[in-house]
Amino acid sequence: MSDDTAKWRALLEDRLKSLQERLAEINETLRQPEDDDIEEQAVEADDDEVLHRLARAGRDEARLIGAALRRIDEGTYGICTTCGKAISKRRLQALPEAEKCLRCAQQSDDR
Ligand SMILES: [Zn+2]
Repeated sequence: MSDDTAKWRALLEDRLKSLQERLAEINETLRQPEDDDIEEQAVEADDDEVLHRLARAGRDEARLIGAALRRIDEGTYGICTTCGKAISKRRLQALPEAEKCLRCAQQSDDR
């Protein structure tokens, strides 16, 4: 394993760890009992919706980071899963869990 790979792995593991801590906090907040006050409940329902969305986004990101770590194990990290070309270092620095090169990501993402 090259030094570079070790660096990416450390970075990804770091990200995964802080993400999991954040998710644990969100789940903790979601588990707290609801207030009896009806108005408070409405506010909390809104908050819950935001938290659920955050939790979903967090789980998605954790999944991507896990996949990136697997690609490091397999020696395919930094290679676009769509076209097989190398993902630019600049992109990986901005988004270490990126599984596609910028071009493929843009093509698959135009919703
Ligand atoms: Zn590509």
